[in-house]
Amino acid sequence: MKQLLIAGLVAAVATSAFAEYPDKPVTIVVPFAAGGPTDKVARDLAEALRKPLGGQSIIIENVGGAGGTLGAAKVAKSAPDGYTLLLHHIGMSTAPALYRKMTYDTLGDFEYVGMVNEVPMTLIGKPTLPAANYAELVKWMEANKGKINLANAGLGAASHLCGLLFQSTLKINMQTVPYKGTGPAMTDLLGGQVDLMCDQTTNTTSQIAAGSVKAYAVTTPKRLSTPALKNLPTLDEAGLKGFNVSIWHGMYAPKGTPKAVVDKINGALRTALKDPEFMKREEALGAVIITDARLSGDEHKKFVASEIAKWGPIIKAAGEYAD
Ligand code: ASP
Repeated sequence: MKQLLIAGLVAAVATSAFAEYPDKPVTIVVPFAAGGPTDKVARDLAEALRKPLGGQSIIIENVGGAGGTLGAAKVAKSAPDGYTLLLHHIGMSTAPALYRKMTYDTLGDFEYVGMVNEVPMTLIGKPTLPAANYAELVKWMEANKGKINLANAGLGAASHLCGLLFQSTLKINMQTVPYKGTGPAMTDLLGGQVDLMCDQTTNTTSQIAAGSVKAYAVTTPKRLSTPALKNLPTLDEAGLKGFNVSIWHGMYAPKGTPKAVVDKINGALRTALKDPEFMKREEALGAVIITDARLSGDEHKKFVASEIAKWGPIIKAAGEYAD
């Protein structure tokens, strides 16, 4: 009886402590450099999360490198108290097939909070690239075999995955140049240090609209409706039959974060995704906010497991890996 009372008291104290969550700033780790698409989504989301998280400050910490695995590993090893969260993308599900020595377990080391958005990608080129459209790009690539540079954000990044599929479908090998994120990669593309990049519309739309990069195609099976992107062909219709890469973002907490805290963050995420300012920004950048069952942590986890099963064999067939 006495033991029951003590257990009840401990549970009540724990519940009330978590009921106050958050009572200090929350950090969202972005596993890529500042200025790129994952960083942009995280910063916009942080704005929208602030109110539903009781007005607390939300700090963005950029931990770029190794295709997003360094930042993910950092969160997997952080205190499970809800004050360190991860905003990651499809790299959650491509890394297990690419890295022989993973320092975290994608499905085992996190509490899944929920899915945020889906984002198409675009194939873009440096401003001085002579090809004006996809057909001309193919001719230029044929003529420049062995000399073409393709920027990416490291093995396992969305840009790497897209570039990998692009090269293996075209059967053209390019020199890949890894960055800590496609923010700095975009700077080099604009400066002409690299030739091509495949990146999320959340990073490329404004550059395409301003005409500061060459834009060749979108990676999804349907054309996009965003004004700056609606005239771009799909890679499928341009000749790469079946080409389809759509990137998603999700939110995670370290394994062991109390359920009450994860539920509170999930509730805040659901509110944030309906924030009119956030919705407007996402739509303008070609992203689609999640409104289906994958908003729940459990369904998002099932989805990530299905993505691991989907991309693993494709990546292995391409013979790509890192030690
Ligand atoms: N878009 C990048 C990639 O996965 C990452 C980033 O900088 O957000 O290639």
